[in-house]
Amino acid sequence: MKCGRCGSENIMTNLRIRDRYEAGMRQDLEVEVQGNPDALIFKQAHREALRANVCGECGNVGLSIENPQALWKIYTEKENS
Ligand SMILES: [Zn+2]
Repeated sequence: MKCGRCGSENIMTNLRIRDRYEAGMRQDLEVEVQGNPDALIFKQAHREALRANVCGECGNVGLSIENPQALWKIYTEKENS
């Protein structure tokens, strides 16, 4: 894997992105797709934790999720309904 900005191969992969909540609890940042956002209860929300690839040379950060297929499936089913 190479940095998309500077071309360095010093990439730290799959780093967790931590957020801090009011109670001091820490949680990974997530992206969310709601299969049925208009529903009151069963929104069928699906979340995947964000992971970061960080260049050790220039600090460029790339974000990704581990299981994009699951999010895509829910996203497309929502569009088709
Ligand atoms: Zn770089």
